[in-house]
Amino acid sequence: MCYAIPGKITSIDNKFVTVEYFGEKKKAYNEFDNLNIGDYIYAQGGYVIQVIPEKEAISILNTWKETFFELQDLDLRLSKVDLQNKINDKYFLTILDKALEYKNISDNEFLYLLETNDKSKLELLYKTANFIRQKHLSNSCCVHGIIEFSNYCKKGCIYCGISYHNNNLLRYRMNTDEISEVAYKAIEEYGFKAIVLQSGEDSEYSIKQLSNVIKNIKQKSSVLIFISIGEIGKEGLKELYKAGARGLLMRFETSNQELYKKLHPNQSLETRLQHLEEAYKMGYLIITGSLIGVPGQTNNDILNDIKLTKKLNAEMYSFGPFIPHPSTPLANNKISSNDEILKSIAISRIIDPYNAKILITTAFETIDSKAREQGLLSGANSVMLNITPDNFKKHYSLYPNRAHINENIPLQITNTISLLKNIGRAPTDLGF
Ligand code: SAH
Repeated sequence: MCYAIPGKITSIDNKFVTVEYFGEKKKAYNEFDNLNIGDYIYAQGGYVIQVIPEKEAISILNTWKETFFELQDLDLRLSKVDLQNKINDKYFLTILDKALEYKNISDNEFLYLLETNDKSKLELLYKTANFIRQKHLSNSCCVHGIIEFSNYCKKGCIYCGISYHNNNLLRYRMNTDEISEVAYKAIEEYGFKAIVLQSGEDSEYSIKQLSNVIKNIKQKSSVLIFISIGEIGKEGLKELYKAGARGLLMRFETSNQELYKKLHPNQSLETRLQHLEEAYKMGYLIITGSLIGVPGQTNNDILNDIKLTKKLNAEMYSFGPFIPHPSTPLANNKISSNDEILKSIAISRIIDPYNAKILITTAFETIDSKAREQGLLSGANSVMLNITPDNFKKHYSLYPNRAHINENIPLQITNTISLLKNIGRAPTDLGF
């Protein structure tokens, strides 16, 4: 569940509550003492994050009411799919049929979808995924904010512009007060209800310092916090969970062992996966996925990446194109096409139809200015806005020419909300 329309608690069953808004019922995990039936709350990622006064809740619900149903209607209209069309590839149509009926689809069939390049077939694949998204998750769209608080990194991933090899980069490190302040502003001033704290792997911050940052933010504001700071070990994960972090954003980057080794000298896929598995066991919500289009990757690898993301119990799928960075060993390689990403999104939706949040990554937006709209109409239902202060974000150079780099936060919010409204989506975690 991910929405910023407040809901009313209609039942409480141990640590779970049922919340209702506009006739929709959702479940959320509760860590608050003294919640009662009839209370109004905000929830994010399946967690109750805030109790709000009845008067305020009713007033927000009233302002939402009309818009909410109009948006749902529009989304429904845009997500119709018609398999009775001019495509005469029976095999392809049978696979989509199976997807619509949740029947088992074999690896060979998924590979057939991944290998498709015909425009009208792809259009139908995307529409099918969008139909499935609408059917199960309706029109809600998560809007998370990400703060990139340090671009120092001790790792040498050969595709990444902030890896320690890059000597052409101006390095920055926000201090702990700065991080808390930026988060506070994003939550209180701009209405974000879920934020990601990301950095390179930077041992300058101790786990204790990071715990304090998280505690500080949670003490002052109600928010769901994801961490994305690389491999900090089981103890580190435990400590940050205790401090109040509830999500981990960590891509496994590729499910192919050999390729992983080539891309990440002196690192192991096993360690990365252990972090994801341990974190899930501790109760973290998981955002994971891979890089699409890295040299040496096959369609079979991409399919395995999607399947692995599901196996890791991802709450959110994150697939982005590899974009060559001029100061890395992979500088001269090619960027993957937008269809490669749209196919990964659509197939993720088919593989995980009921619950998955699927993200439009900034890297995707960087290679295609229509990525958001196209992705959201191909099975995706999440976006992430960059809320790093302007003076820092230009130096968080994972890859060149990042999308939205020159847009300040209010402009990003306005643009996002207007795009979502145009396609009938409810930007469910930005208050407006
Ligand atoms: N230290 C954190 C965050 C890493 S940077 C961690 O270890 O998880 C965030 C993401 O940027 C990476 O997971 C990687 O998938 C992506 N990234 C890095 N270089 C990239 C490139 N050249 N093109 C596209 N995405 C890239």
